[in-house]
Amino acid sequence: MRGLSHLVNNDTDQAIEIFIGLIEADEGTIDLHLALGSLFRRRGEVDRALRIHQNLVQRPRLKPLHRNQARFELARDYQAAGVLDRAEEIFLELAHQGMFLSDCLSRLMRIYEREREWERAIDTAQWLSSAQGRDMGPRIAQYWCELADSALRRDDARGQQQCLKRALAADPHCVRAQLTRAGQAVDSGKVAQALKIYRDVIQHHEAFIPDVLAPWRDAFLREHSAQQWAAELERVYRRHPHPHLQVALIQAQAQSGQTDARQQALDQLVQQPSWVGLHAALDQDWSNLPSQAAGLLKGFADVLRVPLEKSPTYRCDHCGYSGRQLNWQCPSCQHWNTTQPLPDMTYSALEEQVHGASSLPESGTGAAGKSVS
Ligand SMILES: [Zn+2]
Repeated sequence: MRGLSHLVNNDTDQAIEIFIGLIEADEGTIDLHLALGSLFRRRGEVDRALRIHQNLVQRPRLKPLHRNQARFELARDYQAAGVLDRAEEIFLELAHQGMFLSDCLSRLMRIYEREREWERAIDTAQWLSSAQGRDMGPRIAQYWCELADSALRRDDARGQQQCLKRALAADPHCVRAQLTRAGQAVDSGKVAQALKIYRDVIQHHEAFIPDVLAPWRDAFLREHSAQQWAAELERVYRRHPHPHLQVALIQAQAQSGQTDARQQALDQLVQQPSWVGLHAALDQDWSNLPSQAAGLLKGFADVLRVPLEKSPTYRCDHCGYSGRQLNWQCPSCQHWNTTQPLPDMTYSALEEQVHGASSLPESGTGAAGKSVS
């Protein structure tokens, strides 16, 4: 009661002294200590959490289960305090004893991710996969992609290729590895191989069409004509009526000199309205129209361009973090493979433009559900 009274009156250190003294007398207060330690850590008072857990661990007569619980909490304190080597050491010891295995391995992966120790992260993910039967393939593929990027930074093309191969072995549909491999194929003149990869990504990950489009078009036009590109887009668009394919189709039809291109674009827009499609339909060469009408259409296109260029283009499915940059690991919730391209401009971007908001976030917003498409 005296301890609680100190706690309520914000005399935290005095409360901790009293509670620590209790352990000697009664092991039944262990749960209270663990709860208090977690509470302090959640409030950001890691030094107090550390004191409580260190004191528990040092008790000579503590039962093994309670000692391991206290050690696990102590490792979490070290992780929260950024003392990662101490945290790693305890998590590893507990994992080798089979204690809190899933939690320890998940936390070890986070530590190795933060330290960019990708080989260790891979080993730990494989351990988790074999111990718990969890499918860690997509995450392991991302770790291999990180190693591939490191190899590229060292100008080690062979190493990069091997890492990408391992990434695709872990997850055959890893978009990141596939896009990099397609780029490599184009660079080495294997255009047909690259085109096959791009079509495969579109088939299995339609959401990534906005990221595939530009490199796919560049690769395609190396060996084919603009008319063939328009025909290819039309064929793919029938299967995947994605707004960005619509935009590409409108632009390709206009560039290929098709006389009925504008009518086709309008027909597609009526069938599947989208902001990006509307902008592409307006943003054309209207020089054959009277200047007043051409100016009006151009003006509409310019008005729409502003929110389009500010609207977030990616959003994390897990926490709602959105921005204009593709992150394979969400910078807000740290989840992998949860960030996807948005199919169209978000309504909130247009709303802020219409209501004259002073500025929109440039990079990202962590507010879940703030952007509504
Ligand atoms: Zn997230």
